[in-house]
Amino acid sequence: MLLETPMLAAYATVVATLVGLVMGSFLNCLAWRMTHGESVMHGRSHCTSCGHVLGPLDLVPVLSWVFSRGRCRYCGERVSWRYPATEVLCAVVYASLVVRYGLTLQTIELIAFASVLLVLSLTDLDEYVIPNVTIVVAIVIRLAYIVAEGILGSGDALIMLRDAAIGGIAVAVPVLLLALVMDHVLGRESLGGGDVKLLFVAGLYFGWQQCLFLLMVACVIGLVFAAIGRHGTNAGSESNARLIPFGPSIAAACWITMLFGDQVLRWYLTLFL
Ligand SMILES: [Zn+2]
Repeated sequence: MLLETPMLAAYATVVATLVGLVMGSFLNCLAWRMTHGESVMHGRSHCTSCGHVLGPLDLVPVLSWVFSRGRCRYCGERVSWRYPATEVLCAVVYASLVVRYGLTLQTIELIAFASVLLVLSLTDLDEYVIPNVTIVVAIVIRLAYIVAEGILGSGDALIMLRDAAIGGIAVAVPVLLLALVMDHVLGRESLGGGDVKLLFVAGLYFGWQQCLFLLMVACVIGLVFAAIGRHGTNAGSESNARLIPFGPSIAAACWITMLFGDQVLRWYLTLFL
């Protein structure tokens, strides 16, 4: 269902924004627990410095951080600005997808995928890992969507499945080969294994044609990241840093492709017709 009236569109966007804020807070916590070996399912949210269990007042997205002036209410330790920033980003992503796709099955699929992308971006930024579980979950979401679309929608699930598989392989295999060649030439890891897996997933979602656009966007974002990172990091962490922090760049490119991939591809094809 598309958003037919302005009233409905406004309402859906507001709801998506609020859900995005809350989910952003949850996904932040999820990413942190994944990289710190804590159970994802059990245990209550706590301050990462003093361990004090957080109450409802501490868990209001963005507002808690603003009103406590970016500090823990119990021990006074600074709480990174990244927490409210992630919450706002998640809200913007959710709202943008609802505006772009309306109230459809595809919106649910892409919001779920975007949530996975947010988590793996955070773990990649912090620990240089894209956990395999995030890749598996992203693939499961794609498969679930294709099955649901085959049952409820007009699409043929088998054809969609075939196209997705072709997309994944057509993107991942050349990227893998290129990475291996670059590793050999540079004498170090150019592209992490997680990045290649993530690009395979992108191929499943967007197909190889839109992935050409996606790769281009990811490279541009990656280079900008790298330029900023070179100013920001000290020499000590340099050895740990890869050439380009590619996970978050690919994730951001996925979001841009969700929003504009279709139009860009159609515009590009008209150049040849
Ligand atoms: Zn604390």
